[in-house]
Amino acid sequence: MKVAVIGSGAAAAGVLAGLEHFAPRAVDVTVFDIGHRFGEVPAGLARDGFTRAQMSPLYRRLRAEHGLAFPPPKSHFGETIRKFAVGGKPRLWKSEHRGGLTNLWGGGMFPFPDRELAGWPVTAADLDRYYQIIAERVGVCGERDALNDFFTRDYVNRPPLRTSPVIEALRDTTNRGGGDEAWRVLAGASRLALETRRGLPRSCTYDGECMLGCPREAIWSARLELDAYERSLIARTVVGRVRRVEPGAVWYRDAAGTDHRAGPFDRIYVAAGCIGSSEIVMRSLGIARGPRMLDNAVVSFPIFYAGGARAGEPGYFSLCNLSMMGIPADPALATAQVSVYPAFDHLFRYYTPEPLWSAMRGLWRLGRWRVLLGRVFFAGAANRALELSLVDDELVIEHGPDPDTTPAARAMAPSFMAALRRAVNRDGFFIPPITPGGHATSSHYAATFPYGGAVATARDGAVARGVHLADASTFVTAPAISPTFTIMANACRTVHESLLS
Ligand SMILES: Cc1cc2nc3c(=O)[nH]c(=O)nc-3n(C[C@H](O)[C@H](O)[C@H](O)COP(=O)(O)OP(=O)(O)OC[C@H]3O[C@@H](n4cnc5c(N)ncnc54)[C@H](O)[C@@H]3O)c2cc1C
Repeated sequence: MKVAVIGSGAAAAGVLAGLEHFAPRAVDVTVFDIGHRFGEVPAGLARDGFTRAQMSPLYRRLRAEHGLAFPPPKSHFGETIRKFAVGGKPRLWKSEHRGGLTNLWGGGMFPFPDRELAGWPVTAADLDRYYQIIAERVGVCGERDALNDFFTRDYVNRPPLRTSPVIEALRDTTNRGGGDEAWRVLAGASRLALETRRGLPRSCTYDGECMLGCPREAIWSARLELDAYERSLIARTVVGRVRRVEPGAVWYRDAAGTDHRAGPFDRIYVAAGCIGSSEIVMRSLGIARGPRMLDNAVVSFPIFYAGGARAGEPGYFSLCNLSMMGIPADPALATAQVSVYPAFDHLFRYYTPEPLWSAMRGLWRLGRWRVLLGRVFFAGAANRALELSLVDDELVIEHGPDPDTTPAARAMAPSFMAALRRAVNRDGFFIPPITPGGHATSSHYAATFPYGGAVATARDGAVARGVHLADASTFVTAPAISPTFTIMANACRTVHESLLS
């Protein structure tokens, strides 16, 4: 059996896991990917920490390229990802690297419960087997806690992240506070694709430079997974930009601009990320305009701490240290998800002139657990819509209609923030009553060709004979919960079910 997989991100990793488990042994797999690669890890970078001399050029480069952007960019050792312009401003992440957006992601790994799958042709029970497969390959850190009231199964199989007693105090305070009559708020350990087991080559060393790049690759990336599959399942990788597909064949353009036809293939899995796959499907099916993509609304806010819990040095992890779920009493509203970060040194270093770094270091360390950063994702009526079209055969993305403007939808963010303050503002924690700052994108893109629509009508994501969409483009909704675990599990399921038909 000959199979083509388009993309090398998380969705492609899910497809490959599906092929590994469910395809005949003699499967012949070709991966197609644009395939840009990030540069090497800076020479001589110790696997357990950066020196000042190694950091300086990275910050100089980031500042030169991004100015005083807020928040400061997350990077792979100074290199970042380009963005699609929307309304004339760079806004949506452009995925063109081997490994896709998981080169820079935060590693949040939560499954979708049935509440988030309402309207989908699959249930959490249908996805259970595939979540299990992905969790075994990737690893999910965490522990049983209050979040299990919401996530009855969370697939945790690694020890929890080591974090500060301040974060543990925030967790307990939030759970005691609980929210209000409109929103129940639960807090617990981050479920992350982070290597928390000790003594392994990828084990997290808690040096806290996660925003600058992790020399140990402690956060899982699809690039690592593709490398591993290249030693076992993948017969060949073709570097090129896929333009379109047809039953049995893939058309791609190489770096020199020459178009090629590859095939024949018995199955083609289009897993180029929601934006990349939508472009391929539009060109393949002659859809010039119409697909509407969803992107969660996301806002950030500070959480101040003036209590007596110890900071928890030495070492820290500067991505999400604590997760919270906001569960609305109104069943018409969507769940909200909050990630809490320490005030990472990266933030201060980015905005402070280099000669002051040494003098300020003590202050930053003191501040790490005194000013925490919360980031909340809103979905449902709060989701933003983006319109996709092909103009002169190239993808153009424009703002879609405003999110739902009914009073209930408009009240969602303020009412959630009020419930969060009700839960958190005690025991030395304080979220100020200011309107939180919004972000240009959530990086969670979904739902251009939802199951049950005119294109991907069935739950195997088939869009033509033997051609299956296998990423978030088929999602029926774009829940606020981190989507990538579900992208991978659902891609794995798509392969399994497509092979049965
Ligand atoms: C800063 C940041 C933090 C994030 N944090 C989290 C988090 O904590 N938890 C979470 O769940 N999600 C997070 N995300 C989102 C997460 O990274 C994405 O949901 C996930 O990576 C999507 O995987 P994908 O494979 O579907 O698409 P992508 O990652 O976009 O991969 C698409 C792949 O297809 C290739 N491709 C695209 N077009 C073509 C083409 N025409 N021909 C050939 N190849 C093509 C690309 O090169 C790429 O390899 C984050 C994203 C960012 C940017």
